[in-house]
Amino acid sequence: MINPRILFFIFNALIVILALFLIFKINGEYGKVIHGTSWDAKQYGNKYIISLKNHSEIVESLTDFVKTQKIKAGKISGIGAVNSVTLRFFNPETKQYVDKTFSEQMEISNLTGNISLKDNLEYLHIHITLGNSEYNSVAGHLLNAKINGAAEFEIETYQNAKIERKFDSEIGLNVYDFADR
Ligand code: FE
Repeated sequence: MINPRILFFIFNALIVILALFLIFKINGEYGKVIHGTSWDAKQYGNKYIISLKNHSEIVESLTDFVKTQKIKAGKISGIGAVNSVTLRFFNPETKQYVDKTFSEQMEISNLTGNISLKDNLEYLHIHITLGNSEYNSVAGHLLNAKINGAAEFEIETYQNAKIERKFDSEIGLNVYDFADR
């Protein structure tokens, strides 16, 4: 016959293990919720689901997110709606930028970008494709865009990675710097 004290101990231990299992399971499903001034996010390991607040600016808000989370390398994707966007076109002949602002309601059909470091500061490089009410699209290098509606983004970080950039005077752009160190 097993000592009732031992049985009682085993029973309590099982209850504690079950409670811990449920807590971890719930936390796993709900992720870690993080709040910023212009964004809310849920973290699942090295992946973040990010919702930007309405009327916030995309590049500024994502940069703020990356800085507060201390992300040094990763990739960005997203969809949403904006009512103003400024794109930048680089002319490789003249090495000059041509910026153009579109002030109308548009859907982000795709936003793709990456996160790296330049001079040890977080550097976001983002391209975007947008569609307007006529179902025409514009696309280019994203300088800034104002959210007007939904703003659903994802960032996946590369753990223990350090991706750096430097200015290449021949090309006229900040390009990846994979020099041996
Ligand atoms: Fe670009």
